[in-house]
Amino acid sequence: MSKGTVLYIEDNEQNYYLVSVLLKTQDYRIVWAQDGREGIEKALESNPDLILLDIQLPVMDGYEVARQLRSNPELNKVPIIAVTSYAMSGDREKALSAGCNGYIEKPIDPDTFLAQVNKYLPHTNPSRNKE
Ligand code: MN
Repeated sequence: MSKGTVLYIEDNEQNYYLVSVLLKTQDYRIVWAQDGREGIEKALESNPDLILLDIQLPVMDGYEVARQLRSNPELNKVPIIAVTSYAMSGDREKALSAGCNGYIEKPIDPDTFLAQVNKYLPHTNPSRNKE
């Protein structure tokens, strides 16, 4: 039984693999999208409880993905966490102003990643009850 669904929009397979292994240890179902447009499509299909969003993506960057997700009434309440190595000037603010709820820096640290993600996952909110 899954605790919920996490959509990870990420073009780097190694990052996806690491995150999927970490999330599966906590019984989350993970859905992978490899570019921005596929991310929007899979968000609509999979009804995720949380979206992890790379910023440097093919087709459509993560800022645009966040803006489109936030403008969709079906998706505008799903937490979005930017996951990116763009730790340069103003990047965090740009992600937040595009509609992201939080920000995790790459490289992903397996020792702290789950604690960071768990702050946004639905088990912290007992009113949500998914498959
Ligand atoms: Mn990328």
